[in-house]
Amino acid sequence: MEPKVYIDGKLYPKSEAKISVFDHGLLYGDGVFEGIRVYSGRIFRLNEHLDRLYESARSIGLTIPLSRGGLEEAVIYTVKTNGLRDAYIRLVITRGVGDLGLDPHKCENGSVIVIVDKIQLYSEKLYKEGISVITASTRRVSPDMLNPLVKSLNYLNNILAYMEANQAGCPESLMLNAQGLVAECSGDNIFIVKKGELLTPGPDQGILLGVTRAVTIELAGKLGITVHESKLTRHDIYVADECFLTGTGAELVPVISLDDRTIGDGRPGPMTGKLFKEFRKLRENEGKKLFA
Ligand code: PMP
Repeated sequence: MEPKVYIDGKLYPKSEAKISVFDHGLLYGDGVFEGIRVYSGRIFRLNEHLDRLYESARSIGLTIPLSRGGLEEAVIYTVKTNGLRDAYIRLVITRGVGDLGLDPHKCENGSVIVIVDKIQLYSEKLYKEGISVITASTRRVSPDMLNPLVKSLNYLNNILAYMEANQAGCPESLMLNAQGLVAECSGDNIFIVKKGELLTPGPDQGILLGVTRAVTIELAGKLGITVHESKLTRHDIYVADECFLTGTGAELVPVISLDDRTIGDGRPGPMTGKLFKEFRKLRENEGKKLFA
């Protein structure tokens, strides 16, 4: 069956799910979005994703044309209609239809789009064996330009970094901030393990505050692992005991090399393994069950 896409209160078959070419989401990347997972018929951390979406929208002065409850209902309705127990939800709010100028006030209403589809970013083999990453020469946009805390539709910065990874034959690239310190990857947050403790860049380093990052910090707390939000250099990653990335699509994926430097012994480490196992346990049991 063709997936059904929700656009502004109606469901359309995928092939007919279309928006105007005058939508400023298309013309200028003017809008915000979320990527959310469904595991075993439960939406994972929906509240946290909606919190971030509404904050992103507020930050760019965009009114989401649905109440929080209404938007939650729209997401649940679309997931149920598509009947997928394991899925990826893409929730998009665009500025809406305007004219060809920049002025967002000419856009009368924002548009709400909910897409539900399948996803597998990495093979099980890569989760077991780990991935190689390179440092992109494309730096992360500075918070004083466009704050990376805003999950906006303007992802060109990240796409350019992703293309560099592709050229190097890697599935992800590390992005530094304007100061040359570690920020995050093109679509994931980064953690290292050093001497039994976890380190990850903080929001002051110009990152998106990932929902999976927060889950990882929570799990570490439960396991009695100390977590530091730290300023990290590439050197810190080269000499780390372990390294892994977190993201809604990637979940928690081990990194075994950066810029051809082997991290640890070149295999996913024990703390990464422990957190990975806990994450997989958690994801099966969280959220309201939508399907019997
Ligand atoms: N950083 C960036 C730039 C991202 O796009 C994402 C989402 N793919 C993340 C980090 C991870 O965030 P989350 O865990 O909320 O998916």
